[in-house]
Amino acid sequence: MTKALEGDRSLRIATRTVHAGVVPDPLAGAVMPPIYQTSTYIQQGLGQNKGYEYGRTKNPTREAFERNVAALEGGAHGFAFGSGLAAVDAILKLLSAGDHVVCGENVYGGTHRQMTLIYARLGIRFSFVDGGDTAAVAKAVTPQTKLVYAETPTNPMMRLCDLAATADIARRAKALFAVDNTFATPLFQRPLEFGADLVLHSTTKYLNGHSDMVGGMLITNRDDVAERVAFIQNGSGAVPGPFDCWLGLRGTKTLALRMRQHDANGRRIAEWLSKHPKVQQVYYPGLPSHPQHDLACRQMSGFGGMLSLELGDPARARKFVAVTRIFALAESLGGVESLIGHPASMTHASVPPELRRKMGLTDSLVRLSIGIEDADDLIADLDQALAQC
Ligand SMILES: *Cc1c(COP(=O)(O)O)cnc(C)c1O
Repeated sequence: MTKALEGDRSLRIATRTVHAGVVPDPLAGAVMPPIYQTSTYIQQGLGQNKGYEYGRTKNPTREAFERNVAALEGGAHGFAFGSGLAAVDAILKLLSAGDHVVCGENVYGGTHRQMTLIYARLGIRFSFVDGGDTAAVAKAVTPQTKLVYAETPTNPMMRLCDLAATADIARRAKALFAVDNTFATPLFQRPLEFGADLVLHSTTKYLNGHSDMVGGMLITNRDDVAERVAFIQNGSGAVPGPFDCWLGLRGTKTLALRMRQHDANGRRIAEWLSKHPKVQQVYYPGLPSHPQHDLACRQMSGFGGMLSLELGDPARARKFVAVTRIFALAESLGGVESLIGHPASMTHASVPPELRRKMGLTDSLVRLSIGIEDADDLIADLDQALAQC
């Protein structure tokens, strides 16, 4: 774990998960970055310090986490936030009143709520279109468009956005292209390589992976964008505490191992569910029946552990989520433990019913976050639960 290793971009991603961003602790040589639980730093004299003056502006534990995730995404700059939505907020603060945003209609419910109920009130205008329909994205662009915002795969419909084609649209419009990469993680998809300007994570999910903190991250390769994001991170102040950064950094060390297992379990369970007579449809990009499976194979190297299933009857969906034993009924996703949720009444309750209908997000849709447990146990649990519906 030398300094040279820390910055080595030629290392493969599983090696980077463990080593990137980590520099030996200068005091004792601690292998793990210490939790610098401090709000301020002593100054040697007026205007003389070790590069650290105040905890909101800089913190060594936070910097290690930021360098680590930036390296995983192939980015030069990482910025940690107090939540995924605080990271979304920082992106929108790059804009000014009168600017226009083209956004995927099936983004995370809280992202949609922030855009329509907070930023629309402040004079930013939004067009929500099917991010999987490249022509619709291009058509929505206006001379005022300053940001194209996408999530891929989307939550919970698992719809994909063509990253290369959308980056091209944004570039021609001289707009920023931001991608929420929370579902795929840098293990399976790296939007900067397809031309995105900004990548966003809710680190609450797979990057931390243990359901024990809330956080967000922005990554960019553009020095000009990084400079503005750094100003907003400090100027708006939605920074995470050092302990949460340390938890996030501990989480990313096992990201490669965890994602491999989420992916293997996801593929098996998606296939098993797609053959179950009580399941009308399974939404999972790894299934050949997914309408954008070819695109998934082009821009993703794995499909992960998120899937949704259509049960055709709201009462059946309500019963199903109540009787699983291993799958816990809870919001959130991306942890080692399997979770089950009902998007229409939980994560996406803040999305207007007409928009939910338009995207196919019905009251009988159930979302699974497949954990890293034994796939046979997970299938047995789903089997007994479906038998009761
Ligand atoms: C959870 C989530 C967010 C919001 O992140 P928080 O950490 O909950 O603020 C944004 N995007 C996606 C895809 C998410 O799953």
